[in-house]
This record gives sequence, C-alpha cells and structure tokens, in this order.
Amino acid sequence: MNDISSRHWRPRRPAPLGVAEARRAEFLFGDLHWRAERLVEAAFASEGLHARALPTATRQDLMTGRELADIGQCCPTSFTTGNLANFLRGEAERIGADAVRDRYVFLSVGSCGACRFGQYHQSYELALRNLGLDGFRMLLLAQDRVDQSAGEDAFHLPLSLVLGALWGVLCAEVVQGLEYRTRPYEVVPGATNRAVRESIDLLAEAFRNRPRRGRKWGSLLWHVATPYFLDALRQARARFDAVEVDRLRPRPVVMITGEFYLHTVEGEPNYNMHRWLEAEGAEVHPASIAVWIDYLIRFAIQEAEDRRAALPRAGLRIAAARGLQRLLRFSFDRMRRALNDVPHGMPRQEEIRRLAAPYFHHRMSGGEGDMLIGKAIWAHRHRHAHMVCELSPYACMPNTMSIGAMARVLGDHPDMLYAPIEVKGDAEVHALSRCQMILTEAKKRAAAEFDQALAESGLTLEEARARVAEDPALRRATWRVPHLGRAGAGANLLLHLAGRREGA
Ligand code: SF4
Repeated sequence: MNDISSRHWRPRRPAPLGVAEARRAEFLFGDLHWRAERLVEAAFASEGLHARALPTATRQDLMTGRELADIGQCCPTSFTTGNLANFLRGEAERIGADAVRDRYVFLSVGSCGACRFGQYHQSYELALRNLGLDGFRMLLLAQDRVDQSAGEDAFHLPLSLVLGALWGVLCAEVVQGLEYRTRPYEVVPGATNRAVRESIDLLAEAFRNRPRRGRKWGSLLWHVATPYFLDALRQARARFDAVEVDRLRPRPVVMITGEFYLHTVEGEPNYNMHRWLEAEGAEVHPASIAVWIDYLIRFAIQEAEDRRAALPRAGLRIAAARGLQRLLRFSFDRMRRALNDVPHGMPRQEEIRRLAAPYFHHRMSGGEGDMLIGKAIWAHRHRHAHMVCELSPYACMPNTMSIGAMARVLGDHPDMLYAPIEVKGDAEVHALSRCQMILTEAKKRAAAEFDQALAESGLTLEEARARVAEDPALRRATWRVPHLGRAGAGANLLLHLAGRREGA
C-alpha cells in the first residue's frame, strides 16, 4: 500500500518566479481576440512587465496538440496546447531550449471545475515534456495572484495589473460590440476595420501610459471612478463617427454563444465563424467576456447562498460578491455609454438563471453551466437575435449537456432558430453547411420582419431612405438604433422613423 501511495500522481510545482526574473521575463498568454490581447499587453507594459499574446491558434496547432498531449481531450485544449508547443518549438530552434526556459513564462488560467478546464496545465506540461522542454515555467492564474510556491521574493501579480488587464478586456469588448454593429452596414468597405485598428491603437497607448494609483485598493478605486479610459473611448468613438452606414438593408442578427475559448477567438479554432457569418450577410452579436465574468460571480454567490448555514461569514462573502458584480456592471455600462450605448448590454444573471431553470439546474458547473440555455431563450424572447449559433467543442462534456437540454427548449419554443455547431477543428465544410441551413431561415425571417416594419411605418422604402438622407446622425455608426421590439437594425430604424419610441 505504501508503495502505491508513494507513486501517486502529484501536480507539477514549477520553480518559483522571483521579482527580478519577472521583470526580465516575457509573459506569454492567449485565448482572447486580438483587440483584448493588445490591451492586455499594454496593461502589462504600464507595470514595467513584458507580455506577448501567442498567435491565434491554427489547424496545425490542433494536430500538434493531439500528437503531443492526450488525443481524447476536448478540442480547445488541443488547440491551445499545440499553439503553445509550436510557438516554443519555433523559439527553441531560433534561440535554444535553455534560452526559451529563461526568457518565457506562460500564464494559464485554471479552474477546479468538473471539466477538463481544470487540467489544461497538465496537458501543457505533458506536451512540453514530449517536446524536451521540461522545466519550462507555467504559472496558474488565480484571480489576483500567481499560484506558485510562496517565498519572500516570489513574484505575485499586483492587483493593479489584474485590474488593468480586466479593464483592457472590457474596453476591447465595447469596441468590438460597436465594430460588429457597424461593419455589416458600412457604405465604404474597409472603413470599419480602419476605425477599429485606430481605436485599438489609441486605447493601447492609453493603457501603456495608465497612471499608477497604488497597487491594491487605491488602484481599484481609481479604476472604478476614473474618466481616464472613458476619454480614450470617446476618442475611439470619434473614429467611428466618421464611418457612414446604411442600415436600411435587412440583415439577420446571429448571436454567438458556446464554450468560452471557441466563442471568444476569431480564427481557425472556430472556423472563422464571425468572418464567415458576416460574409454570408449576417450581423454578428459576439459573445461577451463581461457576461462570462458576471456568470462566474453569480455562480459564487449562489454557492455561498446554498451553503449559508455551514459557510463562515457567508453573509459578508455574499455581500462582497454582490458588490463586485455591481462594480463590474457599473464599469461596463460606463464604457458602453462612452460609445453612445451602441455595444450590446449585459443580460441580468437572475433572468438568465430563471429562464434556464426548467431545463438546466443552476448548480451544474463546468463549461458555461446554465448560461447557454438562459442566453438563447433571452435572445429569442427579447428579440435580440434572429438566430443563435452555439459553438460547441468536440469531446466537451458540459456543452454536450447543454445541447441535450436545448432539445427540450426547442420543443417549447419551436420558432427559435438554433444552430449547435460541433467544432472539431477539421470538419469545417460540415459545420458551415449545417450553420448555413439555419442561416437561410434567419435571412427569410429578417427580410419578413423588415417588410412588416415597413408596412407598419406607412412609408415606402424610398421615403424611408429620403428621411435618413436628410439626417446625417442616422447615417453615423455611433447613432444608437432604439430597440423597438425587432431583432434587426433596419426594422427598428423603420419604426423609429415612423415615430415609435422605446418604452412607448
Ligand atoms: S468546457 Fe468543454 S471545451 Fe471547455 S475546457 Fe471544459 S471540457 Fe474542454
């Protein structure tokens, strides 16, 4: 028995990273979209640290991940493992394995959830061992600290850096929201992409020069209260002000949901789904990292509530988590307001949980839990999208469960357009043709909705166009189309022209 227990598997403890080493090292990270990655890099730079986002994963990375780690793992794990391995392999050929170990540190997010998300770093470790890069430092991010052997001179991520990175992700998200509401309607092709690039450039500059206001609570207060990032966002808004749009073209709105990595990245890991949908004539409602963070806080609150009797200082913990949730929403809404509220808002987690409750238990963790169900019903019920496209990874247990539960949701909501896309990484034609079948129906819905709004408005299309032509504000990307109970921007605009107002 002794022999068996002494050979029990133990997690690897990387050599601790000292403060001086951290200043010299280059932190590698990934798994976001390019806008957020640029701003996170800039937030590191403002703390005197070097960070570099890994290139977006490719199909070659998927193959490498399968080859070097566990072939049965979910596809996001294979993509991200192969992505790191190929980057380091290339660097090892260029500067040598020892220099790679000295120069780079990989920051990974971990979790103790029910799914493989809790095992990402083991997968990386196995792949690196198979590559001959034993001893390469990977640090597991846990909120405001790096999980490493504590020591007097061990490096810990300061709260000011975590906040800077988080604010970078939120700012990038509102810019992304404005971008996706603009590009399908732009009059001059390429104008939106130019505005986005310029916006992210000026925001990155603002993050790089972010003033230092303490490393902990002072920094938290400053981030929450400062107009500094809002000013930068207003400058970004000015770039979008110059983009002319024609919203009187019906477009189906497709909301992207699914597993965190697959719905966030833009590239081969999700078959370039965002770009493909736009090329097919859709307006994409991109997935939100802010909503995911909001969900994680809600999950912590409900766990504490369920264990209230046994949990020490449960009331205090719940109040603190609720306060955090309010701060997140407050900060996100301020950023949206700086862009005239054009980016999508966050649904209320209480409503998401309530909508999902008949189909999926709120305590089931792993992946996105009950959120995918709740978001799909929310988008359908409030007419925020014509169609939901759920990007679900091959070999993912939590997403398989939510897709199963969606069968009953569709039974209760037979008019919902829902496309669950299983992403294996190497079955693009199959996935896109499946999505196209539902998208064809969504296009018909968008066209019918537009025609109905035109009839309700009492205008002809020419008269509507003439009214838009008279008012330059209506042709601006930053003018917010009021939500008048239709999913499509064109239909809502027609009702607005006819004098309908929100809440009336
Ligand atoms: S949620 Fe699914 S895809 Fe994501 S890590 Fe867990 S098992 Fe993998």
